[in-house]
Amino acid sequence: MNRIAVFCGSNQGRSPRYGEGARSLGRALAARGIDLVFGGTGKGLMKIVADAVVEGGGVVHGVIPRSLVDKGQRYAQLTRADVVDTRSLRKRRMAELADAFIAMPGGLGTLEELFEMWVDAQFDGHEKPLGLLNVDGFFGGLLGFIDTMIAEGFLPPQHRSMIVADTDPDRLLDAFEAFAPVTASKWM
Ligand code: AMP
Repeated sequence: MNRIAVFCGSNQGRSPRYGEGARSLGRALAARGIDLVFGGTGKGLMKIVADAVVEGGGVVHGVIPRSLVDKGQRYAQLTRADVVDTRSLRKRRMAELADAFIAMPGGLGTLEELFEMWVDAQFDGHEKPLGLLNVDGFFGGLLGFIDTMIAEGFLPPQHRSMIVADTDPDRLLDAFEAFAPVTASKWM
């Protein structure tokens, strides 16, 4: 696994634990020689993950919309930058670049990115694992809702296994290494 896209808040969140989780994820990526692909600005949890990767001697690859570059939000220490015209193109580029995807606590942008990658797996059958870094139980409500979708017959149960959730970045990355892809398409 060479590159992982991390989706996370452009805010830091209320609890310092979110920042601690972001730092430990960044350190774990750098220690394993995995490049960070991310939204490319120096905001919120994104900055904390990227700072930790840079401190660990790793590569930070930003995929950033031109509008945010124009607003001066580009993360100062990007190793590589792809400047794109729209948010949609940013998601496409991150999807191409990354071998796996991790969502950390965040808001609508984070969920939009996570769900686009999950729907891609469902429809196009990409075999890249998705992870939730479940800092402080942040994703408990979402995981419960996913169970509701399955229980109510709207989500095939095998598609739940496309997503791995853990509170610890190293365990999450170990699970990615051991990941057995789910190939069943939604229409099978
Ligand atoms: P949110 O969770 O709503 O804070 O959005 C953060 C996620 O969406 C990140 O993973 C980014 O890729 C993208 N994003 C949204 N807003 C920004 C921003 N101001 N700067 C960089 N990325 C952003």
